[in-house]
Amino acid sequence: MPELPEVETIRRGLLKYIVHRKIDDVEVLCEKSLVGEKEKIVGAEILGITRKGKALLVELDNGLVLMVHLRMTGQLIFLGKERFAGGHPNENFVDELPNKQTRVVFRLDDGKLFFNDQRKFGFVKIIEKDEVENEPFIKKLAKEPWEMDGQEFFETLQKKKVTIKAALLDQNVIAGLGNIYTDETLYMTKINPKTRTDKISLAQAKEIVVAAREVMNKSIELGGSTIKNYVKADGTRGNYLDLFAKAYGREGEKCERCGGKIKKIRVAGRGTYYCEECQK
Ligand SMILES: [Zn+2]
Repeated sequence: MPELPEVETIRRGLLKYIVHRKIDDVEVLCEKSLVGEKEKIVGAEILGITRKGKALLVELDNGLVLMVHLRMTGQLIFLGKERFAGGHPNENFVDELPNKQTRVVFRLDDGKLFFNDQRKFGFVKIIEKDEVENEPFIKKLAKEPWEMDGQEFFETLQKKKVTIKAALLDQNVIAGLGNIYTDETLYMTKINPKTRTDKISLAQAKEIVVAAREVMNKSIELGGSTIKNYVKADGTRGNYLDLFAKAYGREGEKCERCGGKIKKIRVAGRGTYYCEECQK
């Protein structure tokens, strides 16, 4: 599943290719992947792309919005004079398209936008712009680190009786931090992942919010993470975690801060990496 920084990376990347393009035609290869009548969007111009949580909102000039949810295996790939690919990384990033994982093809006046989705949990939904806020999952989205205030976060944590790791992963507490970003945020703030939320001080809560923003921003700058076989938009492979993670995925390695050992344990049901020396 792409995490929030990946979705933001896709949003930023697609801007230059699809904004101000007109949708000439829509080819639906899998009925359930496009919710709504395609006729409503043919002829419309794309005005911009915004994001709510992990949903991308492609705004059209006719009052409608294409809400794209990539879920587990969704991808958006633009093919024109240049190629831009985002979402679940696999050979589709460089292969010829459409292929058997292609669900919807948006024919633009200057290229094609492919919505691929191997497992079909993702979708593109045509909705009225005014209705976006009423979408159930958008209504219940918690604040993202950029919107969250340290004091408010502290108060939320005081009411919880779980580990800080579980709280950071809980999308109803703070939105957008997946497993990697949670571990990196806690490493940065020297907080043990098993610490109970009601033991977190106000100063620590503030530090967590700031660190979470830093971690997410860094990830967005690097183009988002994907654990294995990271295929970049130009088809080359890169190991994002080498560039990014100080704790995550580094079991047995030396902590670059204190020389202690990075350990892997299970917290909140997830593999969790931390330094046993400086995150006591
Ligand atoms: Zn350390």
